[in-house]
Amino acid sequence: MKLAPPPELACRDVVEVVSDYLDHALSAENQAHVEQHFLVCPPCSAYLAQMKRSIELSAALRAGASELSEVAPGLLQAFRDRKLR
Ligand SMILES: [Zn+2]
Repeated sequence: MKLAPPPELACRDVVEVVSDYLDHALSAENQAHVEQHFLVCPPCSAYLAQMKRSIELSAALRAGASELSEVAPGLLQAFRDRKLR
């Protein structure tokens, strides 16, 4: 007899909710599932770190830091180049 596998989020699902996760807009249960996924999935964990950085950068941009406006396009390109599982 096999045990049912634990409920697992696909990377695609995690990417979809990552902004809600950062906004703490997920239910406690979903928040826990996403956190669990980050622990076992380095690519998504890296993606989360990039998202956080992107949010910090855009906050800095809104604050009028002109130097960062040259950094942001490179960051966007890095997102586009990312290959998700
Ligand atoms: Zn993942």
